[in-house]
Parts: sequence; structure tokens; C-alpha cells
Amino acid sequence: MKACGGMVMVNENLDPGSAAPAGTGPAAQELATNVIFIVPDGFGDVAAEAYELYKGSDPVWKSGFQAHVRTASASSAVTDSAAAATAYATGVKTNNGSVAVDTEGNALVSILSLAHDAGKSTGIVTTDVVTGATPAAFAASEDDRDDTAEIAQDYIDRDELTVILGGGREDFRADPDRDGMTTLREAEAAGFDYVTTADQLAASESERVLGLFNFGPVGLPVGNRSSEPTLAEMTDAALDRLDADEDGFFLVIEAAGTDTWGHANDAASVMRAAAEYENAMQVALDYAASNPGTLVVTVADHETGGMRLDPDGDRTPAAFRPYEAPYVEMFYEAMEAVADLGFSLSPRSIIRAVRDTIFDLTGGLVRLERDEILSILDASSVEEAVLELGSFLNARGGVEYTTTGHTGADVSLHAFGPGADLLEGSVDNTEVGHWLAAAMGLSFPEEQVADGALLASGMIPVMGDPWADSLM
Ligand SMILES: [Zn+2]
Repeated sequence: MKACGGMVMVNENLDPGSAAPAGTGPAAQELATNVIFIVPDGFGDVAAEAYELYKGSDPVWKSGFQAHVRTASASSAVTDSAAAATAYATGVKTNNGSVAVDTEGNALVSILSLAHDAGKSTGIVTTDVVTGATPAAFAASEDDRDDTAEIAQDYIDRDELTVILGGGREDFRADPDRDGMTTLREAEAAGFDYVTTADQLAASESERVLGLFNFGPVGLPVGNRSSEPTLAEMTDAALDRLDADEDGFFLVIEAAGTDTWGHANDAASVMRAAAEYENAMQVALDYAASNPGTLVVTVADHETGGMRLDPDGDRTPAAFRPYEAPYVEMFYEAMEAVADLGFSLSPRSIIRAVRDTIFDLTGGLVRLERDEILSILDASSVEEAVLELGSFLNARGGVEYTTTGHTGADVSLHAFGPGADLLEGSVDNTEVGHWLAAAMGLSFPEEQVADGALLASGMIPVMGDPWADSLM
């Protein structure tokens, strides 16, 4: 179905009982029994372009392009992950920082709750802490995304989730409802098998599983990851359990590293995080291939870093392939090499130590210039020094960043399976939530539909933004 006359048609004829008269629209659509919704946080379109060059072939999502998604929140043209996830999860625009509540603070019904009420199993999987804003908007409601212990409590109180996998142990050791039991104890009482390593996850035979594999985020390409599952392994473990429900499931998966490293302006680590995201996406697509009622959707929540890509000759993101460590680690190793100089410390030996360290950690690709090293050493803080080093390493791949924050850029949505092609053109992020509901034959409460999107008519204007007035 194509956008026409400035309008995009959505949600028509999703009900199998109301086949369209010939010639007036698409044939009745099959409903999605299962939905796998994958959010690569902060992974903008330019970063995706860079990843394609880094990889050297099409990423698995490429053939499923459906729509450009506008990302502004109710409070800002530049959204945060909380408002962005709320738009996807509830179909309603809210303020930055808010998790599944509207701009007045009223709790909103999420797509995950709709799926649960329709008899489906549900799950959240992330490389961030599981109480992070992106999964939280699907399974909790809080005015402030930083109330993470309350978000964990919401997960257990609502009793909707079958699978919770990610990081963030600390939030489950609290007792926000002051009933004398930590949230973790309450989760175990509710039947969750609590696991903390990849081996325990693989060995668990429990239908309900709470896997918290780190105190902080998991899956960062730094530090000791030996006991942590990968995002693909977590996705696989989640699908194993959700698959048991004949009524289907709704699974949210977040790849967080693409945002984390975007904030750090570390393009090479964004590429590694994108590879981990793609591996998880592949697991989802493999599942869908053998389970035809499965809709697989992937869309970033916003862009992070404002990457500019200007490849020239050998200077393409493929140059990042041999980079072995995040830039921040490279910097600390270089400083250690300087400290190790001891009595042979001299201006010349300092420059050589930095150059040799970075040369090694980039797989022999980058020999920093003397001027570059001097400007790194001249920085006024570690943060600035790492950004300076990063700018030189990014430049070897034809990449430059324009901010360490988020941007207001549109993001691309890719989808595969039943209902995928009912969302097309240029859409608002709130429309994604309503489309997900419609793809499963569900809909949000009436007041939430009126609040969030113009879906009653099945037609959504492409031009003009009904929320423009609130974007001050
Ligand atoms: Zn971010």
C-alpha cells in the first residue's frame, strides 16, 4: 500500500471479519499472533549507513523498510528514550523523562498490557538495566524514569511479564512498597526463577525467568563479559519460553549499546553494538520464519550523536573493524604506558608511548600524528581527552559527530510479517503504537486513542503535526 494524496492509510481491514470490498483497499489482513519489537536505542539512519559499510553487506533488517518515524516528544523537539518509548508503547506523546504517563501524569495503558489482557505472554529483554526507560514504558508507569526501584516494583505488582532479562540487580534489592520484602523476593514468590549468569539462564527450566546479569548494564563491549549472555542468547531464551503460549506473545527487545557509545561519540563501539543488535534481530527473524504469525519490527527511538558520514578512499567505517577496545579504554591504556615510562619519561617518549599504544589497539591501523597526540594531552579533562582521541579515530573511518546528546532526526522503521505493510510513509512515533495494537487486532482505550493519534478515521495526515503547539 502506498501513501497517496498526502495521507497514509493504516489499520484498515485488519479485522479478518471485515474483508474490504474489491477495489477499495487491501485485502483483509492476517493478524499477528506474536510481536517481537526490537529497539536499537539511539541508532539513527546515518549510524545504520555506517554499519552497512562496516559490515560490508546488507544488514538483515534492510529489506524490511516501511516508514520514516518522527521522534519529537511533547516537551521537546529532541526526545529522550522515556518519551520515545512511551509513544511506541502507548500511542501517546508525553514529556521527556516520563514513563507511560501522559503530560498530566495519568498512567497510560501499554501495548504490552493489551497483549497480556488478550491472553498473550509478554517479555522484556535489554542490554541496559531492565528498569531502563525503554523497557519500562512497556511494563510500568512512573512520572520519572529515574525512579528505577519503583519501576521494578511495577513489573512485579502488575504480574504481566513472563520473561525479564537484562542488567540492574540493584533495583530489585530495594523494597519500595515497604512490605518487608525486596522486589526480588516478591518476584521469586510470584514464580520467577532468578538467574545471574548465562549458564544459569541456559540451565533454567522455569517458565518464568528473571535474569539480572550485572549490577549495571550488560553487553557493553568492555570489561568481563564471560558470565553474561549476549543479546542474541537472551532473545533466544525469551522466545523459548514465550513460544509455549498458544495465544501468542509480545516481546520487547532493546539494544542499548548503540545509544551508550553514541553519547561517547565512539563510532567503532557503536558498530560492535550494532553487530550484537543484528545478531538478536537474526534470532527473531529465524523464529518468525518457522512461526508465520510473527510480526518482527525494528525501529530506533531517536538518533544519538548526530553522526556525519563522509567516506573517502580508505576512510570508511570498514576501518573500524580492527579497533579492539572502546576509545575510553584506549586512552587509559595510553596513560598507563606513559606512567610505565618511569625514569625514561621525556616529551618524546610520552608521544611515542601514546602512539604505540593506539597503534596496537587499532590493530596496527592508526598511527596518530604528533599534533593529534599533543592536542589529546592538552585536553582539560579526561572526558575531553577521550573525545579528542575519538575524533581522530572516527576520522579514520570517515565519521564525525555533531553532539554528545540526542538529535531530533527521524528514524527508519523496518518490519516483517503480518501487518507490516500497513504502516508506510512518514509517520509520527505515536502511530507506531496504534499500528502495533491493530496488527494484533487490539486497540487502546478510547480516551487514549483520542489523546494520542488520529486513528478513528483510519487516516493519518502526513503533512502537519497535530502536536506542533506543544513543541515549545
Ligand atoms: Zn541516550
